[in-house]
Amino acid sequence: MFFKRNKIKTVQDLKNSKAFCMNPWVHLFVSQKGTVGPCCLASWEEDKTFGNVNTQNVNEIWNGEKMRAFRKSMMADKPDERCHQCYLNEQNGLRSKRKTVNFLYAHHLPLVNDTQRNGFSKNAQPVYWDIRLSNLCNLSCRICGHHSSSSWFEDAKALGQTNYETKIHKGPANFEALVKQLDNVIDNLEELYFAGGEPLLMPEHLFLINKLIERKRFQVKLRYNTNFSQTNFKGTEFLEVWKLFDDVFIHASLDDSGARGMLQRHGLNWSQAVLNRKKMLEICPNVDFMLTPTISVFNIFSLPQFHKSLVEQQLIKIDEFIPHVLKSPPYYSIQILPVHLKEKAGKLIQDHIQWVIDYARLNPPEAPKEEHIKKWGGNFDLMGIPKVTGHGKLDIQINELKQCLEFMMSGDKSALIPEFVRISNQLDALRGEDTRASLPELAELW
Ligand code: SF4
Repeated sequence: MFFKRNKIKTVQDLKNSKAFCMNPWVHLFVSQKGTVGPCCLASWEEDKTFGNVNTQNVNEIWNGEKMRAFRKSMMADKPDERCHQCYLNEQNGLRSKRKTVNFLYAHHLPLVNDTQRNGFSKNAQPVYWDIRLSNLCNLSCRICGHHSSSSWFEDAKALGQTNYETKIHKGPANFEALVKQLDNVIDNLEELYFAGGEPLLMPEHLFLINKLIERKRFQVKLRYNTNFSQTNFKGTEFLEVWKLFDDVFIHASLDDSGARGMLQRHGLNWSQAVLNRKKMLEICPNVDFMLTPTISVFNIFSLPQFHKSLVEQQLIKIDEFIPHVLKSPPYYSIQILPVHLKEKAGKLIQDHIQWVIDYARLNPPEAPKEEHIKKWGGNFDLMGIPKVTGHGKLDIQINELKQCLEFMMSGDKSALIPEFVRISNQLDALRGEDTRASLPELAELW
């Protein structure tokens, strides 16, 4: 018996939905605790997730009671408290993961229609994986922490910011065994998303890539969040490997250039990152690249210049830059700035939006790839992004910059300035750095 109260039958229903998300029909998210949840944004705690791959078979979890209950809520378009981050973003006009997933996976809507009354889906398979392999990382970025970077361990201990006793913590304790359980899905896999830690340094990532090569699954979309500090691992140059795949998307988490960037992302060698990008343009120019800076108090003032200079150096195209606003930890948020600095930053961002629009008018960005237009072109509206230039990626960028301004002005967290100063002083002392000297525009916060 199918679920009669299913409210999501058509692409139009998807568009009108308030809470529905395609994830429980397509997505496998495994956290660094081994828990399986709706996605990376929802809580990773045992009591809020569907199961744990370190104690259960993943196939049991996929159609288990908790997953089925989540599907039923989604089909009724009923909000789920674990998804509050998406609802909040939508209320604030920010990009939501829910809308992005619904846009990218709308072609799997028939799976929703043939889901049983109890939420059981015979045909749904986890074709889009986000398995958090471990926190192994070679950088210790200020905005990050030991939860996502092993290099943070000593500093986090000194600051009393970690409960872990070991430097490295893994998601699936036995990754090869997990992949074996998912063997029947590999031939239907559509997307692998790697995030960290730093995925390019992880042996599990290499294992999975080799498995895809062995099975000739070059159609699988590979998507990375990488710190872009190195592109090779144990003799494998990933720039060469990515050439083999049809669709690779690199999101490089770089926030600023030179000494400014290296303070914010401790351990980064900026010249090496530039070299990596040049090599990438030479070896695999067709691989999609996107710079994805996190906008925080550290880089709000330099972000426009950072974007401009990379475009001018032809390291990126105008639309290969999508920032997002940092919300946590709150003492690094742009909302801590005093009013006169917010106004200064606001003017810089507004001028930059105008620069982007003017630049794109004279140098229109390339049209999306034909296969992307074929697959998603008609559904772009599902993302809910206002049209400014008519170029999808650029409109997302502009929307993100505008929302950054709104976010900054919508809250006053200036009471957290002493906390910002305290943590910065402690990290400066631990790392032999000097935030005030590297980022002089923030010196007055001291
Ligand atoms: S609605 Fe948002 S938080 Fe919930 S599963 Fe979908 S993408 Fe994740």
